[in-house]
Amino acid sequence: MHHFLYRNNELYCEDVPIRMIAEKVGTPFYLYSHATLKRHFLIFNEAFEGIERLVCFSAKANTNLAVLKLFESLGGGLDIVSGGELYRGLKAGFSPDRIVYSGVGKRVDEIDYALDAGILMFNVESLEELELIDKRAGLLKTKAPVSIRVNPDVDPKTHPYISTGLKKNKFGIDTETAIQAYRFASKLENIDVTGIDCHIGSQITEAKPFMEALESLNALIDELKQMGIEIRYLDMGGGLGITYNDESPPHPREYARAIVAALKGSHLKLILEPGRVIVGNAGILVTRVLYRKSGKVKEFVIADAGMNDLMRPTLYDAFHAIEPVVATENKTITADVVGPICETGDFLALDRKIPDVKKGDLLVVMSAGAYGFTMSSNYCSRPKAAEVMVKDNRFHVVKARQNYEDLVVGESIPPFFDD
Ligand SMILES: *Cc1c(COP(=O)(O)O)cnc(C)c1O
Repeated sequence: MHHFLYRNNELYCEDVPIRMIAEKVGTPFYLYSHATLKRHFLIFNEAFEGIERLVCFSAKANTNLAVLKLFESLGGGLDIVSGGELYRGLKAGFSPDRIVYSGVGKRVDEIDYALDAGILMFNVESLEELELIDKRAGLLKTKAPVSIRVNPDVDPKTHPYISTGLKKNKFGIDTETAIQAYRFASKLENIDVTGIDCHIGSQITEAKPFMEALESLNALIDELKQMGIEIRYLDMGGGLGITYNDESPPHPREYARAIVAALKGSHLKLILEPGRVIVGNAGILVTRVLYRKSGKVKEFVIADAGMNDLMRPTLYDAFHAIEPVVATENKTITADVVGPICETGDFLALDRKIPDVKKGDLLVVMSAGAYGFTMSSNYCSRPKAAEVMVKDNRFHVVKARQNYEDLVVGESIPPFFDD
């Protein structure tokens, strides 16, 4: 459930007409519903009621400070994958002991930054990373809390680009090597082995892959216990899918029930890293139709948002519903909804049945709250879109639209051009 609904044929975000925001802010812009963000976070968190847990929102799905601040205020933690996300997390007010750090390629400066901040734990993805973290912790005279990210080799049955828990994927350490990694880690002076972690992929629409991963982790935990290595945190990663079109992923309560059942009364503190399931359907992208054009074989609707604003259709062939802001047109067309960018891959929807829109009409791209703005770029020197949040009958620009000057920040002409 979300709060983007029609009233008298006009689309609202909570109590604000989207047309009104478009007039004030211009297009394109991302629009987030405060009530939906809050509701999704609480439903997910409360699904694990009675279990000791920390819901660490996966920052890369949506890193806007206002979004992060909201989850912080609701008692959430944060899952980060870079120094930049750590910076944002701290700026949003997250206590460092509620931040976990994942990612295959942590740099020295990022490791130092996280050690210095005192994060809850590093989810380590290789033996070399483990060695480096130990060394840096030693130099900084601290101990690094660590969990090993295990690659349990389960098929999440999702798009290949967002499958992360298969043998052939770059993520984590396979279950056999993981035992060696734990043995190695337990001997390192500046490492405190605190957890075990996995993240098998994204947009997963059934519970089974999570169960398989958890089974695999449970077996490892038992083996570690026999080796005398006691861990405290079990991090199940993120990955729960959402409905973009006709998918029917498990409800967070169903997902939680399955996980809790498989925990079998263990004393481990659960960490979860949901991203998409919290923010995906809490945000939309609002765009204006620039032109209509009839090709020989196709009808085109040219919008002012393109692949630089929303990369998912191009990158993953992802489906996003397209809806009109004013829904009075009954006639429909089948069209490609494309952006202004000089790439054939620049589309928001292909062969899509939509209302017979005209130049100047507003359209919204639904389910764009996750991996929308965060994946946007300045390709073709297009300033990044604004981000707006609505709460009840108020709206606030939570990130200003970039201007042309923003585009050239940090660029300069080399002095040797004058030689
Ligand atoms: C991307 C990511 C997540 C979030 O995935 P969703 O599918 O958005 O829930 C969680 N953990 C890690 C390590 C990730 O890389």
